[in-house]
Amino acid sequence: MLDLDDTIAAVATAIGAAGLAVVRVSGSSALAIAEAVFEGARLSQVPGGTLHHGWAARPEATEVAGVDGHVAAGHLVSTAPGGPTAAAPARVIRVRLDEVVAAVFRAPRSYTRQDVVEFSCHGGALSAGRVLAALLAAGARQARPGEFTLRAFLNGRLDLAQAEAVADLIHAETEGAHALALGQLRGELSRQLATICEALRDAAAEVEARVDFAEDVGGVEVPGHVIDRIAGAGCALTALLDGAAYGRALREGVRVALVGRPNVGKSSLFNVLVGERRAIVTPHAGTTRDLVSEAIEVAGVRVTLADTAGLREGGNQAESEGVARARTALEESAVVLWVVDASVPLDEEDCRMAARLAGRRVILALNKCDLPRTAEVRALDEALGGGPFAAVATSAIRGDGISELRSALGRLLAGPGGLAGVVANPRHVEALGRARGALERAHAAAVDGAPGEIVSLELREALQALGEVTGETVDEDLLERIFSRFCIGK
Ligand code: GDP
Repeated sequence: MLDLDDTIAAVATAIGAAGLAVVRVSGSSALAIAEAVFEGARLSQVPGGTLHHGWAARPEATEVAGVDGHVAAGHLVSTAPGGPTAAAPARVIRVRLDEVVAAVFRAPRSYTRQDVVEFSCHGGALSAGRVLAALLAAGARQARPGEFTLRAFLNGRLDLAQAEAVADLIHAETEGAHALALGQLRGELSRQLATICEALRDAAAEVEARVDFAEDVGGVEVPGHVIDRIAGAGCALTALLDGAAYGRALREGVRVALVGRPNVGKSSLFNVLVGERRAIVTPHAGTTRDLVSEAIEVAGVRVTLADTAGLREGGNQAESEGVARARTALEESAVVLWVVDASVPLDEEDCRMAARLAGRRVILALNKCDLPRTAEVRALDEALGGGPFAAVATSAIRGDGISELRSALGRLLAGPGGLAGVVANPRHVEALGRARGALERAHAAAVDGAPGEIVSLELREALQALGEVTGETVDEDLLERIFSRFCIGK
């Protein structure tokens, strides 16, 4: 996996009908291998950062040309560097595969910091695959998932957090997820962690020096300014971890379940929110038997709205299956959009729902606000355990309150303000949590006047955990796990 010596190749674009497809080759023999399958400029001789139009071609067979230079098939190209010579009449017949543009990057000024050639072929199912096959036949090895980015990491072009941002960028489906990944790729998280690590390294060095020269400095206790520094680093980590829920929402999206009694207008609201008539709306109770879900974007977050059947017991088999699915959707959702019909008094079912939703993140839609209001919803606040996050009067049929509903959802999902320093990757969150735990122990030990060795041990553990995020302290297994989740060609 960590072998950097061989030359790897892969199709870097998604297979399918498209204008272009890119085949990438990277490694010490990239230029020679690319040249072997290229009819045009001699790629091993051209400067880096240049584009060359030509044909990707597969060497088919070597033949001695006849008197008139004619051969049965293919195109005549000399194998000898300087072109055909009288002394070497042997010629390679090349079968043209596709008209391409070769982009040549020379080490270290390339994505992997190795020699790289990227062939832009025609899109579609075949062209790129044929060019890749020719490169493999010429000596390249099929790249494993993420292997180009792994090389970029191993060669020091990106740190690990930045390399992971590349995968996040590719998978980003919302503006928020994209902006977050781009910030991480630019090194925003890495820079913040570098500052924290620097403070901790200084602290550890000072603590360790006191241990080593205890007699000279009059004791091994940790001095106050070092304790403050440890506390400061702990606070910085807490601030990063505080934004993690938002980061995760941005990266992975959140599920929002629409719940409420039958006929209160869940499907109608769902349709208005997703902007199309997707769920079936009828005046009869219990119509939405199955779960209908659709993704929308709210405040940069991908929100998967699930319109559930009511949670009413009984009914026929199809209805109770719908109820079972609604329960699961409810359990899995980060936020609940509870719809009540504000034009009729609340009933026992509403009270049961309030009890069921107690402690959850709830937005209450007081629907049918175009009709006279009868429901007294204040009664629900206590049952919900402090009330909903927001209560918004809506009319699904008139469109009243829909933008307020969206902004309430946006406020609920919003992070600590700005994307800088938002941690989204669960691996990073876990490592930062471990680092914070070690710092808390280091701080408590230092305040208690514990010997410097103990404090130093905890500081080193925190540094180890932080190093795992940027890749300073990772083992091969972890790299294997991280990069195997990438796509091939990235
Ligand atoms: P669900 O069973 O909770 O999904 O409710 P539906 O969306 O199927 O709506 C039930 C009935 O209420 C339909 O006849 C809708 O047209 C009607 N309805 C939905 N929202 C409103 C609203 O805001 N105002 C009024 N007056 N009727 C509504």
